[in-house]
Amino acid sequence: MDNCIFCKIVAGDIPSSKVYEDDQVMAFLDLSQTTKGHTLLIPKKHVRNVLEMDESTAQDLFARLPKLARALQKATGAVGMNIINNNEEIAGQSVFHAHVHLVPRYDQNDGIKIEYTTHEPDFNVLGKLAAQIASEVEE
Ligand code: AMP
Ligand code: ZN
Repeated sequence: MDNCIFCKIVAGDIPSSKVYEDDQVMAFLDLSQTTKGHTLLIPKKHVRNVLEMDESTAQDLFARLPKLARALQKATGAVGMNIINNNEEIAGQSVFHAHVHLVPRYDQNDGIKIEYTTHEPDFNVLGKLAAQIASEVEE
């Protein structure tokens, strides 16, 4: 897609530090290097994010994650890894070509905090919400 920075990386029009490539996906180092080895995995086909992704693109993309994560761990000696995907601006997406972040973790005191607030569970509310979501799952 015109003006998409990740499509330009796929096309080789702008440089990247490439980690992996096949017919469907590409992985390269994130410029920000949140931690050493911070990598992005993207589908070569332009799609905005997971909310607009079809199943076959998702299969191609997410199937590559385990081997890429293991390679990253072996190469860096990371103890663990966060695998993160942001969808839409409200959720922190800034590049609108779908991508998955692999963020190797080395040290508990690295200052990175991924926290979810917890609420007292109301199982009545949860049950209704679960049913509502279930009714929206596409065939
Ligand atoms: P997000 O905020 O989830 O959309 O993540 C976008 C990520 O893309 C950020 O972590 C940026 O550092 C990264 N990024 C932007 N431009 C480039 C680029 N040309 N090469 C590598 N990473 C990039
Ligand atoms: Zn794109």
